[in-house]
Amino acid sequence: TYVITQPCVDVLDRSCIDECPVDCIYEGNRMLYIHPDECIDCAACEPVCPVEAIYHEDDVPEEWESYTVANAEFFTTT
Ligand code: SF4
Repeated sequence: TYVITQPCVDVLDRSCIDECPVDCIYEGNRMLYIHPDECIDCAACEPVCPVEAIYHEDDVPEEWESYTVANAEFFTTT
């Protein structure tokens, strides 16, 4: 799955939403989230993010690892 990280916070550019073929990017209060069970790892969203907030879960920078958890939790608590 792909994960949206810190640069998205308070930006919510939404370019990725238009690119995602399975519509698995959802809007939270301060950032967007990718549904981990719906994402098909197509990578279409990654290059269109103007703030480079999107990473494959294996490539999330260490300081933003918490966003991988937050991304998953967003869908278990809502
Ligand atoms: Fe959607 Fe593809 Fe990005 Fe996953 S990798 S969120 S399926 S555009």
